[in-house]
Amino acid sequence: MEVLKLGGSVVTDKNRAMAPNTEAIHRLAEEVLAAGPRPLVIVHGGGSYGHPLAKEYDIASGYTSSRQLLGFSRTHQAMVRLNALVVDSLLDAGVPAASVAPSSFIVTEDRRIADLNATVVKRYTDSGFVPVLYGDAVLDSERKFTILSGDQLAVRLALDLEAGRLLFGVDVDGVFTANPKLVPEARLIEELSLANARGMVKIGESLGTDVTGGMLGKVTEAAAAVEAGIEVRIVNALKPGVVRGVLTGEKVSGTRLRP
Ligand code: ADP
Repeated sequence: MEVLKLGGSVVTDKNRAMAPNTEAIHRLAEEVLAAGPRPLVIVHGGGSYGHPLAKEYDIASGYTSSRQLLGFSRTHQAMVRLNALVVDSLLDAGVPAASVAPSSFIVTEDRRIADLNATVVKRYTDSGFVPVLYGDAVLDSERKFTILSGDQLAVRLALDLEAGRLLFGVDVDGVFTANPKLVPEARLIEELSLANARGMVKIGESLGTDVTGGMLGKVTEAAAAVEAGIEVRIVNALKPGVVRGVLTGEKVSGTRLRP
Protein backbone atom coordinates (compact mmCIF):
# COMPACT_ATOMS: atom_id res chain seq x y z
CA MET A 1 0.00 0.00 0.00
CA GLU A 2 1.21 3.45 -0.88
CA VAL A 3 -0.15 6.89 -0.07
CA LEU A 4 0.67 9.65 -2.57
CA LYS A 5 0.09 13.22 -1.40
CA LEU A 6 0.01 15.74 -4.24
CA GLY A 7 0.56 19.22 -2.88
CA GLY A 8 -1.64 22.20 -3.48
CA SER A 9 1.47 23.74 -5.03
CA VAL A 10 1.30 21.00 -7.65
CA VAL A 11 -2.38 20.67 -8.53
CA THR A 12 -3.06 24.43 -8.44
CA ASP A 13 -1.31 27.68 -9.21
CA LYS A 14 -0.96 29.12 -5.72
CA ASN A 15 -0.51 32.65 -7.05
CA ARG A 16 -3.97 32.93 -8.65
CA ALA A 17 -7.29 32.26 -6.93
CA MET A 18 -9.17 29.14 -8.09
CA ALA A 19 -6.53 28.32 -10.68
CA PRO A 20 -6.00 24.60 -11.28
CA ASN A 21 -2.69 23.44 -12.74
CA THR A 22 -4.49 21.49 -15.44
CA GLU A 23 -1.30 20.51 -17.21
CA ALA A 24 0.19 18.97 -14.05
CA ILE A 25 -3.09 17.25 -13.12
CA HIS A 26 -3.34 15.57 -16.55
CA ARG A 27 0.32 14.60 -16.65
CA LEU A 28 0.22 13.14 -13.13
CA ALA A 29 -2.86 11.09 -14.02
CA GLU A 30 -0.90 9.61 -16.95
CA GLU A 31 2.08 8.96 -14.66
CA VAL A 32 -0.09 7.11 -12.12
CA LEU A 33 -1.46 5.00 -14.98
CA ALA A 34 2.03 4.36 -16.36
CA ALA A 35 3.23 3.19 -12.93
CA GLY A 36 0.76 0.31 -13.23
CA PRO A 37 -2.08 -0.97 -11.04
CA ARG A 38 -1.18 -0.99 -7.36
CA PRO A 39 -2.83 -0.46 -3.98
CA LEU A 40 -2.66 3.33 -3.94
CA VAL A 41 -4.42 6.14 -2.10
CA ILE A 42 -4.10 9.69 -3.40
CA VAL A 43 -4.55 12.78 -1.21
CA HIS A 44 -4.30 16.24 -2.72
CA GLY A 45 -3.94 19.65 -1.17
CA GLY A 46 -6.07 22.75 -1.57
CA GLY A 47 -3.67 25.33 -2.92
CA SER A 48 -5.48 28.27 -4.46
CA TYR A 49 -8.86 26.48 -4.20
CA GLY A 50 -9.22 25.85 -0.49
CA HIS A 51 -6.93 28.33 1.19
CA PRO A 52 -8.26 31.75 0.08
CA LEU A 53 -11.82 30.92 1.20
CA ALA A 54 -10.64 29.24 4.39
CA LYS A 55 -8.68 32.39 5.15
CA GLU A 56 -11.46 34.81 4.24
CA TYR A 57 -13.84 33.12 6.68
CA ASP A 58 -11.15 32.10 9.18
CA ILE A 59 -12.31 28.49 9.13
CA ALA A 60 -9.12 26.94 10.54
CA SER A 61 -9.42 28.52 13.98
CA GLY A 62 -13.02 27.36 14.38
CA TYR A 63 -16.43 28.87 15.00
CA THR A 64 -16.79 32.48 16.05
CA SER A 65 -19.83 33.61 14.08
CA SER A 66 -22.71 32.15 12.07
CA ARG A 67 -21.40 33.94 9.00
CA GLN A 68 -18.64 31.33 8.84
CA LEU A 69 -21.12 28.54 8.10
CA LEU A 70 -21.36 29.70 4.50
CA GLY A 71 -17.58 29.98 4.40
CA PHE A 72 -17.17 26.44 5.69
CA SER A 73 -19.45 25.07 2.99
CA ARG A 74 -17.88 27.25 0.30
CA THR A 75 -14.41 26.01 1.25
CA HIS A 76 -15.60 22.41 1.07
CA GLN A 77 -17.31 23.02 -2.29
CA ALA A 78 -14.15 24.58 -3.72
CA MET A 79 -12.30 21.42 -2.71
CA VAL A 80 -15.02 19.25 -4.23
CA ARG A 81 -14.53 21.09 -7.53
CA LEU A 82 -10.74 20.71 -7.43
CA ASN A 83 -11.15 17.05 -6.50
CA ALA A 84 -13.47 16.56 -9.48
CA LEU A 85 -10.73 17.86 -11.80
CA VAL A 86 -8.20 15.44 -10.31
CA VAL A 87 -10.58 12.46 -10.35
CA ASP A 88 -11.81 13.25 -13.91
CA SER A 89 -8.22 13.36 -15.14
CA LEU A 90 -7.45 10.01 -13.53
CA LEU A 91 -10.58 8.49 -15.06
CA ASP A 92 -9.75 9.95 -18.49
CA ALA A 93 -6.30 8.38 -18.21
CA GLY A 94 -7.90 5.03 -17.32
CA VAL A 95 -7.16 4.93 -13.58
CA PRO A 96 -10.20 3.67 -11.58
CA ALA A 97 -10.22 6.63 -9.20
CA ALA A 98 -12.95 7.09 -6.59
CA SER A 99 -13.62 10.37 -4.83
CA VAL A 100 -13.93 10.11 -1.03
CA ALA A 101 -14.94 13.26 0.86
CA PRO A 102 -12.91 13.64 4.10
CA SER A 103 -15.54 15.85 5.76
CA SER A 104 -18.11 13.07 5.43
CA PHE A 105 -16.23 10.62 7.66
CA ILE A 106 -13.61 12.51 9.64
CA VAL A 107 -14.05 14.60 12.80
CA THR A 108 -11.14 16.40 14.40
CA GLU A 109 -10.64 17.34 18.03
CA ASP A 110 -8.87 20.67 18.41
CA ARG A 111 -7.67 20.37 14.80
CA ARG A 112 -6.22 16.87 15.09
CA ILE A 113 -7.98 13.88 13.55
CA ALA A 114 -10.02 12.14 16.26
CA ASP A 115 -12.55 10.00 14.35
CA LEU A 116 -11.45 8.38 11.14
CA ASN A 117 -12.68 4.99 10.08
CA ALA A 118 -10.43 3.85 7.26
CA THR A 119 -12.57 0.80 6.41
CA VAL A 120 -14.17 2.36 3.35
CA VAL A 121 -10.85 3.61 1.97
CA LYS A 122 -9.32 0.18 2.56
CA ARG A 123 -12.22 -1.53 0.82
CA TYR A 124 -11.84 0.72 -2.20
CA THR A 125 -8.17 -0.22 -2.56
CA ASP A 126 -8.92 -3.90 -1.91
CA SER A 127 -11.40 -3.75 -4.80
CA GLY A 128 -8.85 -2.20 -7.14
CA PHE A 129 -9.98 1.43 -6.92
CA VAL A 130 -7.67 4.37 -6.28
CA PRO A 131 -9.47 6.46 -3.63
CA VAL A 132 -8.76 10.18 -3.95
CA LEU A 133 -9.11 12.37 -0.83
CA TYR A 134 -8.13 15.95 -0.13
CA GLY A 135 -7.50 18.59 2.48
CA ASP A 136 -10.97 19.67 3.56
CA ALA A 137 -13.10 21.78 5.85
CA VAL A 138 -14.15 19.29 8.55
CA LEU A 139 -16.20 19.26 11.73
CA ASP A 140 -14.28 19.61 14.99
CA SER A 141 -15.55 18.48 18.41
CA GLU A 142 -14.09 21.53 20.20
CA ARG A 143 -14.12 24.26 17.59
CA LYS A 144 -17.21 23.16 15.64
CA PHE A 145 -15.13 23.08 12.46
CA THR A 146 -11.61 23.55 11.19
CA ILE A 147 -9.36 22.91 8.21
CA LEU A 148 -7.81 19.47 7.93
CA SER A 149 -4.61 19.63 5.90
CA GLY A 150 -3.94 17.10 3.19
CA ASP A 151 -0.60 16.47 4.92
CA GLN A 152 -2.18 15.48 8.26
CA LEU A 153 -4.72 13.31 6.42
CA ALA A 154 -2.11 11.57 4.24
CA VAL A 155 0.01 10.67 7.27
CA ARG A 156 -2.98 9.34 9.23
CA LEU A 157 -4.16 7.24 6.28
CA ALA A 158 -0.66 5.85 5.79
CA LEU A 159 -0.61 4.84 9.47
CA ASP A 160 -4.13 3.36 9.56
CA LEU A 161 -3.74 1.51 6.26
CA GLU A 162 -0.27 0.29 7.28
CA ALA A 163 1.21 1.70 4.08
CA GLY A 164 4.73 0.73 3.13
CA ARG A 165 5.44 4.14 1.61
CA LEU A 166 4.20 7.68 1.93
CA LEU A 167 5.19 9.94 -0.96
CA PHE A 168 4.85 13.71 -0.93
CA GLY A 169 4.84 15.40 -4.32
CA VAL A 170 5.61 19.12 -4.04
CA ASP A 171 6.85 21.97 -6.24
CA VAL A 172 10.50 21.73 -5.15
CA ASP A 173 12.96 18.80 -5.28
CA GLY A 174 12.64 17.98 -1.57
CA VAL A 175 13.79 19.50 1.71
CA PHE A 176 16.64 21.97 1.27
CA THR A 177 19.00 23.58 3.77
CA ALA A 178 16.81 26.70 3.36
CA ASN A 179 13.74 27.57 1.31
CA PRO A 180 15.06 27.15 -2.25
CA LYS A 181 12.58 29.74 -3.49
CA LEU A 182 14.17 32.39 -1.29
CA VAL A 183 17.74 31.17 -0.99
CA PRO A 184 19.23 30.19 -4.37
CA GLU A 185 22.32 28.57 -2.83
CA ALA A 186 20.20 26.22 -0.65
CA ARG A 187 21.22 22.58 -1.03
CA LEU A 188 18.94 19.55 -1.31
CA ILE A 189 19.05 17.27 1.74
CA GLU A 190 18.81 13.74 0.33
CA GLU A 191 18.53 12.06 3.72
CA LEU A 192 16.96 14.08 6.52
CA SER A 193 16.95 12.50 9.96
CA LEU A 194 14.11 13.56 12.22
CA ALA A 195 16.62 14.54 14.88
CA ASN A 196 18.11 17.08 12.47
CA ALA A 197 14.67 18.21 11.35
CA ARG A 198 13.78 18.89 14.99
CA GLY A 199 16.89 21.00 15.23
CA MET A 200 15.61 23.00 12.30
CA VAL A 201 12.23 23.40 13.96
CA LYS A 202 14.00 25.12 16.83
CA ILE A 203 15.89 27.40 14.49
CA GLY A 204 12.58 28.05 12.76
CA GLU A 205 13.54 30.37 9.98
CA SER A 206 16.18 28.05 8.64
CA LEU A 207 13.52 25.75 7.26
CA GLY A 208 11.35 28.41 5.71
CA THR A 209 9.01 31.26 6.27
CA ASP A 210 5.79 29.24 6.27
CA VAL A 211 5.82 27.88 9.81
CA THR A 212 2.49 26.09 10.13
CA GLY A 213 2.29 24.71 6.62
CA GLY A 214 5.03 24.69 4.08
CA MET A 215 7.86 22.24 4.24
CA LEU A 216 8.28 22.44 8.00
CA GLY A 217 4.64 21.49 8.60
CA LYS A 218 5.00 18.58 6.21
CA VAL A 219 8.13 17.20 7.86
CA THR A 220 6.58 17.66 11.30
CA GLU A 221 3.42 15.76 10.27
CA ALA A 222 5.44 13.06 8.51
CA ALA A 223 7.47 12.30 11.65
CA ALA A 224 4.75 9.96 12.97
CA ALA A 225 4.87 7.92 9.76
CA VAL A 226 8.67 7.70 9.81
CA GLU A 227 8.58 6.57 13.44
CA ALA A 228 6.07 3.86 12.50
CA GLY A 229 8.56 2.48 9.98
CA ILE A 230 6.89 3.87 6.86
CA GLU A 231 9.25 4.96 4.09
CA VAL A 232 8.65 8.68 3.56
CA ARG A 233 9.89 10.49 0.44
CA ILE A 234 9.46 14.09 -0.66
CA VAL A 235 9.87 14.61 -4.41
CA ASN A 236 9.18 17.19 -7.10
CA ALA A 237 5.82 16.33 -8.69
CA LEU A 238 6.10 19.22 -11.13
CA LYS A 239 9.03 17.55 -12.88
CA PRO A 240 7.73 15.17 -15.52
CA GLY A 241 8.47 11.50 -14.77
CA VAL A 242 9.36 11.93 -11.10
CA VAL A 243 6.08 10.61 -9.64
CA ARG A 244 6.02 7.67 -12.04
CA GLY A 245 9.69 7.04 -11.21
CA VAL A 246 9.25 7.09 -7.46
CA LEU A 247 6.19 4.83 -7.72
CA THR A 248 8.03 2.25 -9.82
CA GLY A 249 11.12 2.31 -7.61
CA GLU A 250 13.46 4.17 -9.97
CA LYS A 251 16.14 6.35 -8.45
CA VAL A 252 14.77 9.89 -8.41
CA SER A 253 16.15 12.92 -6.70
CA GLY A 254 14.36 13.97 -3.52
CA THR A 255 14.48 13.76 0.25
CA ARG A 256 14.11 10.58 2.25
CA LEU A 257 13.14 11.04 5.90
CA ARG A 258 15.02 8.92 8.41
CA PRO A 259 14.21 8.26 12.08
P1 ADP B 1 2.13 21.83 -0.80
O1 ADP B 1 1.12 22.91 -0.66
O2 ADP B 1 2.41 21.49 -2.23
O3 ADP B 1 1.88 20.66 0.05
P2 ADP B 1 3.86 23.62 0.57
O4 ADP B 1 3.74 24.86 -0.25
O5 ADP B 1 3.11 23.53 1.83
O6 ADP B 1 3.55 22.39 -0.34
O7 ADP B 1 5.41 23.32 0.87
C1 ADP B 1 6.36 23.38 -0.16
C2 ADP B 1 7.03 24.71 -0.10
O8 ADP B 1 7.77 24.81 1.11
C3 ADP B 1 8.04 24.98 -1.17
O9 ADP B 1 7.43 25.50 -2.34
C4 ADP B 1 8.98 26.00 -0.52
O10 ADP B 1 8.64 27.31 -0.92
C5 ADP B 1 8.66 25.88 0.96
N1 ADP B 1 9.85 25.64 1.77
C6 ADP B 1 10.14 26.31 2.92
N2 ADP B 1 11.27 25.87 3.45
C7 ADP B 1 11.74 24.89 2.64
C8 ADP B 1 12.92 24.06 2.66
N3 ADP B 1 13.81 24.15 3.65
N4 ADP B 1 13.07 23.16 1.67
C9 ADP B 1 12.14 23.05 0.69
N5 ADP B 1 11.04 23.82 0.60
C10 ADP B 1 10.83 24.73 1.57
